[in-house]
This record gives sequence, structure tokens and C-alpha cells, in this order.
Amino acid sequence: MPTRFGVTPPPEGGGQPLPHHEVAGLGAGPANLSLAALGVNQLPGGIALFERREGPAWHPGLLGSGTQLQTSWIKDLVSLADPCNRLSFLNYLVSTGRIYAFLNAQYDSIPRLEYARYLAWASGELGCVRYGTPIEEVDYAGGRFVLSGQGGAVATADHVVFGLGTRPDVPSCFVGQEESEGVVLAEQLESHLGTVSSKPYEQVIVVGGGQTGAECVLNLLQRGYRDIRWIGRRPWFAPMDDSPSANDFYRPTYLRFFQGLPEGVRERYAAEQTLTSDGVSMATLQQLYQANYEASLREGRSPVMMLPGRSVVEAAQRHGTVALWCERDWGGRERHAARFVVLATGRRSTPLPLSARLLELMETDAAGEPVIDSDYSIRWKHSETHRLYVQNRSRVGHGLADPNLSLLAVRSAVILNSLLDRQAFAIRDEQMSTVWA
Ligand SMILES: Cc1cc2nc3c(=O)[nH]c(=O)nc-3n(C[C@H](O)[C@H](O)[C@H](O)COP(=O)(O)OP(=O)(O)OC[C@H]3O[C@@H](n4cnc5c(N)ncnc54)[C@H](O)[C@@H]3O)c2cc1C
Repeated sequence: MPTRFGVTPPPEGGGQPLPHHEVAGLGAGPANLSLAALGVNQLPGGIALFERREGPAWHPGLLGSGTQLQTSWIKDLVSLADPCNRLSFLNYLVSTGRIYAFLNAQYDSIPRLEYARYLAWASGELGCVRYGTPIEEVDYAGGRFVLSGQGGAVATADHVVFGLGTRPDVPSCFVGQEESEGVVLAEQLESHLGTVSSKPYEQVIVVGGGQTGAECVLNLLQRGYRDIRWIGRRPWFAPMDDSPSANDFYRPTYLRFFQGLPEGVRERYAAEQTLTSDGVSMATLQQLYQANYEASLREGRSPVMMLPGRSVVEAAQRHGTVALWCERDWGGRERHAARFVVLATGRRSTPLPLSARLLELMETDAAGEPVIDSDYSIRWKHSETHRLYVQNRSRVGHGLADPNLSLLAVRSAVILNSLLDRQAFAIRDEQMSTVWA
């Protein structure tokens, strides 16, 4: 069956001809690396990826000692859709000579650093990533997409896949302060601690009760900080639900069911299922509680004070101290002060760099966001011939697997099947005991 791919257009008149790609991906995180890895055997020209970072990196400030992947390594870039693909995690281990050492280390969950190394290896094997190339705007002109950086157009493409990931979400009361000495983003904590003049007995506050917040508290504890306050909005520092029944939400069968639900039900379910994705790993919680307990045995007091059920509503800095005011779930306010505050307050989608002209050609929802179909394509005027896809941006539309690594390869397979107009990848999910519909 013929594909939708057109012939590479002739170079533009005048100036340097721009490279033209059948499929271009913006961002080279796990989402687009997975797509490129599965695309190798399906698209003659492969997929060209444009990445703003100067070289391979995956959440570089959040790979500290002891941090682990919350997803099985079997759910790598390719295996769930194409287990014979050479870019599997297993092939990474074998071809880099690490397999026996890895097996003997007997991990239940692999170190995050190992996953970052795997991604860098896959990127090197693919050889399709153009690093140091932030794309500031995607436009549609002359029957193709034009990708531009700060210095002008860098390439054109028939189809574009956005895999831009997320960036830290800074609560409004901290906006403008996140660059100051008193307020540190979680991903900068490691480098901050290397330069900071504060002493371990000084007070530090970590805001954010999820996995990243817990890791920051542990990090501070292990570095000898002895007066740490941990603030979270939920009524308790909730563990991630990694039970078999919770993992039913991370199956292709459930995704299909979820996508067919009315919007209101999807919104409610996405909120109710949050702890299957955004809670703290049980192992991290146990490590933290045990370290806190042991410190109290040795030193007579617990270095970490847990403060759940509190929302920070005001923040001010004076004379080297940061003061926070929190609203408590059960009413009333309280004040906390520290030498510095670490923000681990979640992440939000990176904005899509769409030209105003392109945005006008798209169907948008009430919030002005492009409408994303079940094959992850954006509904727009010329989608019959020129496709736009978006990964990791549709938690309510496509379920909680979308912002996670669990079904990375499945999502890539769905996108490639759609691009190719054929079932290049069979997505089989049988033996489902839970009945959804
Ligand atoms: C510390 C951490 C640990 C996580 N661990 C897990 C886990 O164990 N299991 C799980 O399921 N999920 C996990 N997640 C959630 C999620 O799976 C990851 O964030 C994952 O990296 C998302 O992949 P992505 O490719 O969509 O986005 P990203 O990994 O964020 O990649 C996006 C890429 O796009 C680039 N980019 C952005 N804008 C531009 C632009 N304009 N031009 C060019 N390039 C651009 C960025 O530099 C980045 O490299 C974790 C998240 C964090 C923050």
C-alpha cells in the first residue's frame, strides 16, 4: 500500500537549500527516541529528531544516587511493540558488556542513571538526532512544515511529531523567585548544594509531596542536613499504587476503553487514578522513614518534619531567609522559614511552538489547545496529506499512560501505523480478566 510520504521537494530558490525530511520529531526524549527506533525498519528515510540540548541527557539534575525507574525495564523504547528491534534495553546491556554485572546486581528497579545511559546509547545507534537545535516555531508554508530556530529556518518536513516533554511547574507565589539564591528548583538542587554556603544545621524546606520531593528530602538528609521541613498538599505523603489492578490502567485494552469515555468521566478518572502515576515509590518512602528514624536514635530528634495537608500560598525573602505561609486543609494558616526552599511542585507540558498561522488551521478545545485524536494526531486543515502528532500531552484524552514511560512503544506504534496507513505493528493485549465495557 502506498504511504502518505511525498517526494522530497526541490531546494528553495536562493540561499542554502534546507534539508527536507519525511518525518521530523521535535525533542529527543524517550518519546521521540522510541518513535525513531521503531521507525527505522518502516520508513526509508527514518525520522530526523531536533533536540535543544547540546547532547544526550535525560532529566540530568534528577539522577542522584539511589534514584530508580518506576517502570519495568522490559517497557523500554521498543520491546512492547517490536521485541526483535535492536534498540532494546537487553541489547544495550549485551552490546555494552554490562549484562552479567547488571544481572548480578539483582535490581528490582533499574537506576535512573542506567536508563539515561540506555537512551544515550540508543540515540548514538540511531544517529538521527540533531543536538543543539531548539525549534522555536513550526509553520506551514508551500505545502510543507517549516521548522525554525532563532536564526531562521533549519529544515522542512512532510510530517511532524512533537515530543517536547515537560518543564517544572512553579506555583504562582514563587514566580520570579525561582532564579534567586533562596529558591531552588528540584532539578538544580544537586548543583546548588555544590556551591551553596548554607550549613547542614540550617533550616531547609522542600515543597511538593511527590516522588521528586521525597528524593530531595532524602538527598538533604544524606548530606547531613538536620532541619528539613517537607510540605505537601495531599493529606498524607501518598505512595504510588503499583498493584496489579492499578497496572490494568496501563494496558492497550484499557487505553482504548478510556479514550471512548465521555470527557467528564475521563477527567474524573484521570484525577482518581493519579496515584497510580504520581505517588511516591514505596521503597523511597521506606528509605526516608528509616533514615529519619535512625537519625532520631543517634541524635535524639528526627531531622525531617513532615507537613502534609498544606498549600503554600505566599513566599517572601528577606535578609537571607525565605518565609512561607501555608493554608492548612483543616483551616488556618501557618508560617515556616528557611535558609532555602526546594521546589518539587510537579511539571507541566512544554508549550507547542506553533506559528499563529498554523494554530489557526487547527481545531482547538475550550482551553485553546489543539484537539488530539486517538492516533495522537492533531486535527487540522491539511491532515489528510500532512500530519502533526503529539506525544505526552493528553493525560485526560488518552489516559495516565500518556505522561509515563509504560506504553511508550505502544504509543509510537499507534503513531507509525497511522502515518503509514497500515498495521505495521500489531498491538495485542489479550488475557484481560478485568471487564471494562
Ligand atoms: C525525574 C523524572 C523521573 C521519571 N521517571 C519516570 C519513570 O520511572 N517511569 C515513568 O513512567 N515516567 C517517569 N517520568 C515521567 C516521564 O516518563 C518522563 O518525563 C519522560 O522523560 C517523558 O518523555 P518525553 O520524551 O515525553 O519528554 P522529555 O524526556 O522531557 O523529552 C523532551 C525533550 O524535548 C526537548 N525539547 C523541548 N523543547 C524543545 C524545542 N523547542 N526544540 C527541541 N527540543 C526541545 C527537551 O530538551 C527534551 O530533551 C519521570 C519524570 C521525571 C521528571
